Amino acid sequence: MPDIAIIGGTGVLDPSLFAASKRVVEITPYGPAIFFLGYVDEIQVAFLPRHGVLHGIPPHKVNYRANVWTLWRAGVRQILATAAVGGIDPGLGQGDLVVVDQCIDFTRGRPSTFADGMSSPVRHVDFTHPYCNRLRGLILQACANTGAGAVSRGCYVCAEGPRFESPAEIEMFRKLGGSVVGMTGMPEAALAKEAGLCYATLCTVTNAAAGLGHARLSHEEVVRRMEGSRGRVLEVIRETVRLASRDGQALSCSCREGAVL
Ligand SMILES: [Zn+2]
Repeated sequence: MPDIAIIGGTGVLDPSLFAASKRVVEITPYGPAIFFLGYVDEIQVAFLPRHGVLHGIPPHKVNYRANVWTLWRAGVRQILATAAVGGIDPGLGQGDLVVVDQCIDFTRGRPSTFADGMSSPVRHVDFTHPYCNRLRGLILQACANTGAGAVSRGCYVCAEGPRFESPAEIEMFRKLGGSVVGMTGMPEAALAKEAGLCYATLCTVTNAAAGLGHARLSHEEVVRRMEGSRGRVLEVIRETVRLASRDGQALSCSCREGAVL
């Protein structure tokens, strides 16, 4: 079974992008989950399109627990996620890649933990490093290897959606230190941490966040712009998979410590 999984966000949902043909359906304790088995070169990967292949699952309806659980159960140890985001930091422009290192969670009402009191004692996972720094380093190396410039750190703010944010909310996020805003980064990152998996996200800025640009935001425009960046994102992801697969059996990070699964 694959060591590495790719969770594809908006614009990265087609299994054929990773030569994936075998579909795996699993009934997890949290509901059904679907992923595909594909390849980067000769390296087998699990590919999980976060919104479904046809982009029918909105951010607040994604079954994050089932998705992370099924990858963990399949033996995956490293997850590369992609995300289309709005830029809060005025220094970020359309098409910029950001390898975020922190996050702020503004979601509400989403089942967000595996440590839900069904077993004792109560567990609290450490979240000092929401994203695996080893994997982040490999993504940045992959950006360098492929000639894709990237911003090496940033704070991802996860909004509940599915509506876009108000300009006042974006101003609040900016004051809190947010660099980019999206709707799917949480609880995915926290669940990966609870599962003891290495997890990192490659964010693509598709637009200026609400109130910072001139145009009305629309999902169609985000998809269109993400598709414009897709070639570059895929190159980086594939190169990261190559680097991560060479990283050997003993991963030199502490992501497995303190897992609750
Ligand atoms: Zn790690």
